[in-house]
Amino acid sequence: MEKLTMKTPLVEMDGDEMTRILWKMIKEELLLPYIDLKTEYYDLGLEHRNETDDQVTIDSAEATKKYGVAVKCATITPNAARMTEYHLKEMWKSPNGTIRAALDGTVFRAPIIVKGIEPCVKNWEKPITLARHAYGDVYKNTEIKVPGPGKAELVFTAQDGAQIRETIHDFTGAGIIQGIHNTDKSIASFARACFNYALDTKQDLWFATKDTISKKYDHNFKDIFQEIYDAEYQQQFEQAGIEYFYTLIDDAVARVMKAKGGFIWACKNYDGDVMSDMVSSAFGSLAMMTSVLVSPDGVYEYEAAHGTVQRHYYKHLKGEETSTNSVATIFAWTGALKKRGELDGSPELMAFADRLERATIQTIEDGKMTKDLALITSLKDVTVLNSEGFIKAVRETLETM
Ligand code: NAP
Ligand code: MG
Repeated sequence: MEKLTMKTPLVEMDGDEMTRILWKMIKEELLLPYIDLKTEYYDLGLEHRNETDDQVTIDSAEATKKYGVAVKCATITPNAARMTEYHLKEMWKSPNGTIRAALDGTVFRAPIIVKGIEPCVKNWEKPITLARHAYGDVYKNTEIKVPGPGKAELVFTAQDGAQIRETIHDFTGAGIIQGIHNTDKSIASFARACFNYALDTKQDLWFATKDTISKKYDHNFKDIFQEIYDAEYQQQFEQAGIEYFYTLIDDAVARVMKAKGGFIWACKNYDGDVMSDMVSSAFGSLAMMTSVLVSPDGVYEYEAAHGTVQRHYYKHLKGEETSTNSVATIFAWTGALKKRGELDGSPELMAFADRLERATIQTIEDGKMTKDLALITSLKDVTVLNSEGFIKAVRETLETM
């Protein structure tokens, strides 16, 4: 069989620990035999980030802007323990944070649905995609622990010195205050990323805030979404037969629990943090969750939602067998290849990516899976495979397609 060719490279960001091992296996078993893979390779493994003073992360983000599509392996975010473990010159920032800041993106996470791994919520028939705004609010806050009686005020000073002043509270005793912010620019980028992703995946878009209580702050989110929708997206949504739906966050939560799925749920930063963990664990596992960062000007970076699976890596280093689930990493590759194919007008590449996804799902539905899924599946008599064994089983299924 002749190998598929690629017109434009995609950006490949290699990573750390167990996911770095899976990365190599996936390429060797599932990609290189079928595709003349064209990638611009960046090694974001912690050692190389340290050697390059983290320049490699910045370069990989710039390359992503240039080529439009990237696929990223999970990477270590350094903490004190990693400083000693890897003899780091500095506690380098989270690569995901650096890349997100460079691309000004929104993160979309969706579960991979497989028969035999049923969501806890029995009416969820289709995936629920969570879109999380990744800037501001409580994540960029300023807090004061109020020691005793006094007046707390909110003051804005314009460049010309004019002030807006509001009383927060007249304290009669000790308490707490918190200042948070967001910008119209960031909210507008978030809105456009959500509308574009809804059109791209032909799914309804839900958005919710608490605008009845937060009449200026949350209302501003609601207004910006509505203005952009009316001016730029309404017609396109109607043509695509999809809907934009705004409601209150508590109403959204109640509706989500009763819905069938198949929509995108856009959340403010904090709501997205909390709700994405709820949705992903209710769907089964973090290893069955895709994640894509989409920028407002249409740049896509695909990754797995989980980390580098450190505990499994240490077992691997000791020569012990591991059963690490590679599904989310395989889907990061298929997502990137599909998008590359779409942008390059290459239906063969898109078809291959689809086939690899179906082969991965089929393998699990045939009862061949890693340990994490074997523990939660409703299928009987399943075969538990090791990390490499599962990837080889996917290859066998792919060969039959
Ligand atoms: P993790 O890698 O997500 O793993 C946490 C636990 O979840 C594992 O020990 C394992 O449970 C289970 N798990 C996660 N992915 C799995 C998979 N593919 N197959 C089977 N089980 C899986 O989180 P972590 O161990 O807390 O973090 C390790 C490193 O990853 C950290 O240095 C962190 O900075 C980094 N991280 C990176 C990203 C990213 O690059 N996107 C995201 C999060 C964390 P059992 O041990 O019970 O089997
Ligand atoms: Mg969280």
